[in-house]
Amino acid sequence: MVTVVILGAGFSGIGIAHKLLKYTLPKVNDLKVILVSVSTHHFWNLGSVRRVIPGEVEDEQIFREIAPGFEQYPKDAFEFVVGAATGLDVASNRAQVSVGGETRDIEYSHLVVATGSSYPTKLPFTTIGSHEEMLESWRELQDKVQQAKSIVISGAGPTGIETAAELASHFGDSKSITIILEGDIPLRGFMPQVGKIAANDLASFGAKLVRKARTMNSSTNDNGQTVVELSNGSILEADLYLPLYGSRPNTQFVPTHLLDDRGNLKLETNLRVQGLHNVWGVGDVGNLESKQLIYAERQALHLGSNIHAALTGGNVKPLPWTVTPQVFVTLGKDKGTGQYGWFKVPGFGVTTTKGKDFFMSRGDGLIAGKNIVRSPI
Ligand SMILES: Cc1cc2nc3c(=O)[nH]c(=O)nc-3n(C[C@H](O)[C@H](O)[C@H](O)COP(=O)(O)OP(=O)(O)OC[C@H]3O[C@@H](n4cnc5c(N)ncnc54)[C@H](O)[C@@H]3O)c2cc1C
Repeated sequence: MVTVVILGAGFSGIGIAHKLLKYTLPKVNDLKVILVSVSTHHFWNLGSVRRVIPGEVEDEQIFREIAPGFEQYPKDAFEFVVGAATGLDVASNRAQVSVGGETRDIEYSHLVVATGSSYPTKLPFTTIGSHEEMLESWRELQDKVQQAKSIVISGAGPTGIETAAELASHFGDSKSITIILEGDIPLRGFMPQVGKIAANDLASFGAKLVRKARTMNSSTNDNGQTVVELSNGSILEADLYLPLYGSRPNTQFVPTHLLDDRGNLKLETNLRVQGLHNVWGVGDVGNLESKQLIYAERQALHLGSNIHAALTGGNVKPLPWTVTPQVFVTLGKDKGTGQYGWFKVPGFGVTTTKGKDFFMSRGDGLIAGKNIVRSPI
C-alpha cells in the first residue's frame, strides 16, 4: 500500500487530498490518503475579519464539515483522522498524532505537512481547536465585541487593518476603535499608496490610528480591561484587545533541523522538505512564499501534481514563477484597496470580489473537491 499522510485539513490539505484521490488513485490503485485534522470542520479563516461583528457571518457560511466531501471515493482509499500531529520521525517514516488523548503512530510512504500558521494568543481567527471549541471561542469573542466600548487592535498587516475597518465602519461612533501602527502607514511591505488609502479610510470611519508604536506588554486591570503598553511610552486601556500580529507556522511537532530560525519548514522549490525525498510542505508552514492563501492555493495544486509524478514515475517540477507581491485588503463592505504586482488595485476591484463574502461561497466547492478557492482542483 502507498500511504500519503496529510497533516492539516486547511485549504491546502483538503485540496491536495482531493487532487490525489481524483487523479492519482485511478493510476495507483493501492493508494491510501490519510487526512489529519484538529477539527471535524473546515474554517474559512478569511471571513474572520467580518465575523467579529455579531450576526454578519453565519456558522454555515464559515464552517463546513470535511468528511462528507470524501464519501465519493472508495472507502479503503481514504481515512479522516480527527487529531493533532504531535511528533514526526523522518528516519522511520512515522508521524505521531494525538487522537482523543491517545497517541497514534501513523506510518507514511509520503508525508505532507500542511498545518498552516496561527496567532500566539489563540484568537479563533484560525482553527485553534475542535469544532465545538471554535464555536464557543467565537461566541465569547462576539459577546466581547458587542459589549466593548473600546477596542484596541495591534498589528497593521492585512488582517489587523481589515478587522479594524469592519469594526469602525460598522459601529461608527458607538465604539472607540484604535489601531496601533508600527510605522507611519499600515500594510508595511506593500506600496505606500495602498497603505495611505487604508489609513485615510480607517480615519474616515472614525478609527484612531496610533502611529510609530509597538505593543510592548499587555495585562488586565481590576476593571477587567486590557492595559496595553506601547513602545512610545503611552498606555491604552481597552475593553477588548485584539493582538493580530506575530503569526507563526504550526510546526512545533517537526524536528528543528528541518526548520529555519522562524519555524518555517525549509523547502526546495519543488515543495520537498530539504534533504528528504518523501516529506513535503505546503502553504503557510513553508519558507518559499508569503503566508497568503493565493500562494497556498497554487502551491497545493502544484504539490498534488508533484506527488502524482513521484508516485507514477513522472517529473517532479519546481513551482512556476509568480507575480509578487499581491494583496487585496477590504475596508469594510464598501471600500477596499490592494496591489497586484506593482499596480494599485482600485477599490471596486476589491469590494466586488473579496469584499462581497471573502470567497466563502466557494467553500462548498472546496469540500466537494471542485476548487480550492478560485482555481479548480
Ligand atoms: C483572518 C485571516 C485572514 C486572511 N485573509 C487572507 C486574504 O485575504 N488573502 C490571502 O491571500 N490570505 C489570507 N490569509 C492567509 C491565508 O488564510 C493562509 O495563507 C492560508 O489559510 C494558508 O493555507 P494553509 O493550507 O497553509 O493553512 P490553513 O488553511 O491554515 O490550514 C492549516 C490547518 O492545519 C491545522 N493544524 C494546525 N496544527 C496542526 C497539527 N499539529 N495537527 C493537525 N492539524 C493542524 C489547522 O488547524 C488548520 O486547519 C488570512 C489569514 C487569516 C488568519
